[in-house]
Amino acid sequence: MDDCIFCKIMKGEIPSYTIYEDDEVKVFLDINPSTNGDALLVPKKHIVTIDDLSSDALLHFFEVTLKVKKLMEVRLHIDGLTICQNNGHGQDVKHFHVHLTPRYVNDNLKHDFNKEILVDIAKVHEQLTK
Ligand code: 5GP
Ligand code: ZN
Repeated sequence: MDDCIFCKIMKGEIPSYTIYEDDEVKVFLDINPSTNGDALLVPKKHIVTIDDLSSDALLHFFEVTLKVKKLMEVRLHIDGLTICQNNGHGQDVKHFHVHLTPRYVNDNLKHDFNKEILVDIAKVHEQLTK
């Protein structure tokens, strides 16, 4: 896609701090990190959401995630890793990507959300199962 920022990074038209690369994916540092080492795992092919992924690709992405996690453990001494992937609402860049966010005991990372729109979990369970 010509106007896709991640496609431009894949083609080298926009620079990135790449920490892992193979034939299928690139992993590079997020330009606006939540924690030190905050990274994005991005397929080279322009895919938009998880719906467009093959089972082989899903498996490969998790294998790469494990490699990067080990790298971060050795080099950055991370205390944990939060894996997050947005589809639809909440997805700013419409080229599939997985956030690999290192966690540190003092990072104070929190999700801010609107508790007022929450309904009883029993009702949600019914909606999902009945
Ligand atoms: P989303 O909200 O789509 O799940 O996340 C998009 C992420 O891409 C954001 O965390 C944002 O900081 C990152 N991002 C957007 N543009 C660029 C860029 O040009 N370079 C890099 N390295 N990260 C980017
Ligand atoms: Zn793209």
